[in-house]
Amino acid sequence: MPDMIVMKFGGTSSHDARAMANIVEIISRHRDRNPIVVISAIAQATNMLERAGNLAAEGKPGEARDTLLSLFERHHAILDELVKDRQRHVELSNIMTTSLKELEELVQGVAILRELTPRTLDSFYAYGELSSSHLVAAALQEHGVNAQWVDSKNFMLTDDNYTSALPVMDMVEARLDEIVRPLVQQGVVPVTQGFLGVASSGHRTTMGRESSDFSASIIGAALRVDDIQIWTDVDGVLTADPRVVRTPKKVKALSFEEAFELAYFGAKILHPHTMLPALERKIPIHIFNSRRPKESGTMITHDLPSDFGILVKSIAFKRNLTLLELTPRKRYSQYIFWEHIYSVLTKYGVRTLLTGTSEYTVALVVDGKDVIEGLLNDLGAVGTIATKSEKGILCVVGRNMYESSDLLSRLFRAVSGFPISFVSYGASKSSISLVVDDAVIHDLVQKLHEEFFTAAADGRVFEELAHDVVQVPAISL
Ligand code: ADP
Ligand code: ASP
Ligand code: MG
Repeated sequence: MPDMIVMKFGGTSSHDARAMANIVEIISRHRDRNPIVVISAIAQATNMLERAGNLAAEGKPGEARDTLLSLFERHHAILDELVKDRQRHVELSNIMTTSLKELEELVQGVAILRELTPRTLDSFYAYGELSSSHLVAAALQEHGVNAQWVDSKNFMLTDDNYTSALPVMDMVEARLDEIVRPLVQQGVVPVTQGFLGVASSGHRTTMGRESSDFSASIIGAALRVDDIQIWTDVDGVLTADPRVVRTPKKVKALSFEEAFELAYFGAKILHPHTMLPALERKIPIHIFNSRRPKESGTMITHDLPSDFGILVKSIAFKRNLTLLELTPRKRYSQYIFWEHIYSVLTKYGVRTLLTGTSEYTVALVVDGKDVIEGLLNDLGAVGTIATKSEKGILCVVGRNMYESSDLLSRLFRAVSGFPISFVSYGASKSSISLVVDDAVIHDLVQKLHEEFFTAAADGRVFEELAHDVVQVPAISL
């Protein structure tokens, strides 16, 4: 059977015409592998669309329109530069003008109602991926590639949980088989959108911020492709966030579990849901740098060689968390106490990042923004709560870490002098997590990185980067 691959390009790879021309070049070079292309919105587009929606809801439709217009102009500048064929240019220009009009009508409606519902926000968001994917498809055609724009509305069926929808996999698979596979078999390069889905009502949904990686994995798993490629702006998964550690190394290969732990505990490089569909079908994920496309990237696979020994591979962190410590007021049976806690968390849709229990207390680490009055009141019905806010999680991810006799002492030595509120060791085979004060989290990431990665690292697993390879974007963390 001929190869088939998914190639997903993030917003960092498509911020302007030059970056988009580069994407086109990369896709063209992979033509013989039958790519299905998944595109995110251009850099900052999703934030701008969200801002426009919020401005409208605040009763500032003029400012909302200005924001939309400046995004429209960015798209148009790319169109003018990349699409010279007259008819193609007119077609795309019309599509973009129609979208802008639709958005302006939405702004009008939201400004009257003074409310931006999750469903309407998803309609705003959709414009980003729809425009960028149209532009890439047209630029590919201009380059002589037989590309076809495919609306994800035709296959990415989800539940109606707007802004964080989940796919209905059976239906997605059937639709992709029906619509996208035949295109690939005819030699067409389908170009579609990440992030977007559609509810059974026909309204557009989105699957959570940064979820285009997840879309790529869903599509790749459903079509049982040979490789899922995530193209971004760094050489692969690094030993730490390059915005915090100036000299990280590249990690050549990771297991799905390691990648999942990293993503779950904050490494922005991959959306945490990305690993699951690929893992289920045992499809490797490769992360490549669109600015250095000849580099080997990072491979995420289910069958890593087992002879790498004990290794810390990367450090992730997550900020703005709250530690809740609950003590039952009466001596409830443990079951009833747990059941109450979990039913309250479910009621408010709160996910715990770490949990721990002793005879006397239950400790939960949750996202700070989830700690709302209703949650605290409901939990307070069965016990007393101590709330410790402004916390963060440091997560050390690696392999066979539990076989090491000195890894824990190295870890604690590196962070000594800083208070640690909670430790999770043993819950996962691939990670060890520490809850610390948010304010010192960058310092501690640097200290841990120095401890585990400054010395010469195993060349089978890590690769040194030239210092200037790591771009440090001016994005506040
Ligand atoms: P895209 O637009 O391609 O989806 P993202 O900004 O979502 O790109 O993800 C890539 C960014 O993730 C990198 O530029 C880097 O700053 C950040 N990042 C955080 N942790 C890591 C890590 N451990 N390895 C590599 N990149 C990381
Ligand atoms: N454009 C979307 C976002 O910014 C999805 C993505 O980039 O993956 O959240
Ligand atoms: Mg991303």
